[in-house]
Amino acid sequence: MTDHNFSIEFFPPKTPEGAEKLRTARARLSELNPKYFSVTYGAGGSTQQGTLSTVLEIMEAGQQAAPHLSCVGGSRESLRAVLAEYKSHGIRRIVALRGDLPSGYGGAGELRYANELVEFIRAETGDWFHIEVAAYPEMHPQARSPQDDLKNFERKVKAGADAAITQYFYNADAYFAFLDNARKLGIDVPIVAGIMPITNYTQLMRFSEMCGAEIPRWVRLKLASFGDDSASIKAFGLDVVSALCERLLKGGAPGLHFYSMNQAAATTAIWQRLV
Ligand code: FAD
Repeated sequence: MTDHNFSIEFFPPKTPEGAEKLRTARARLSELNPKYFSVTYGAGGSTQQGTLSTVLEIMEAGQQAAPHLSCVGGSRESLRAVLAEYKSHGIRRIVALRGDLPSGYGGAGELRYANELVEFIRAETGDWFHIEVAAYPEMHPQARSPQDDLKNFERKVKAGADAAITQYFYNADAYFAFLDNARKLGIDVPIVAGIMPITNYTQLMRFSEMCGAEIPRWVRLKLASFGDDSASIKAFGLDVVSALCERLLKGGAPGLHFYSMNQAAATTAIWQRLV
């Protein structure tokens, strides 16, 4: 695994207790020696300070970190200020997204899609940032068709993205088909597979409904059958996700990006099965 592009995602904690828990989780996850940690960014800039302070804390501990940046709800001026701040702290890597506005939030902002954000970052800061963008092997839920979504992905790469991280999925074939289709279009940036460990059935169903990730029927039924038996859910989840990761790496995935949910145990357990 060490020669692969292995990264771990956090979200900015909202409370001092959350921050302390994240510190403990990060210390444990650092032992796995990931290439970098990334930190999400609330749409409309809602976590702007939390994202930055979490990233700076990671960097102060001697690890590489990448803030996410989403353009929805923002102005060119506000995005320019965030980029300048990231740059002034010596941050060299960014995950560029459109984001999703909570319902009831005002206007969509000046940049409508992530390809426009990538273009803006390149125009403002040249090659300073290594830019990662999102990719959707099972199609973004708002796209008109898989072909359209792939074309839109191509736009982001052409605008200057260096690499991509996928939405999570449990169907390896969807990922491999996406890689093939991207290669056919001449897209040759690394497309790292996003991995969501399975630890909580209700939460997984809720997230997957929102982001359009399919939970295979046999996995869903088995998880449901465990009811409140959290230990069995975690044990089965570990088997399923470790087997998925193994298949992805064997099949040519350039790396794995773990959606850790600020927890160390599940990512560590999967990792230990892979090394
Ligand atoms: P886009 O690439 O802009 O695509 C959005 C939709 O518009 C797609 O359906 C696409 O097909 C379509 N589209 C794209 N370009 C065009 C165009 N030019 N014309 C017409 N249609 C177009 N959200 C956050 O708020 N904060 C985060 O930190 C965050 N981190 C994430 C990290 C990863 C790795 C992933 C996979 C997702 C993350 N998200 C985050 C969620 C993401 O913001 C949502 O999935 C959002 O709905 C789409 O973002 P995007 O950057 O993929 O958008």
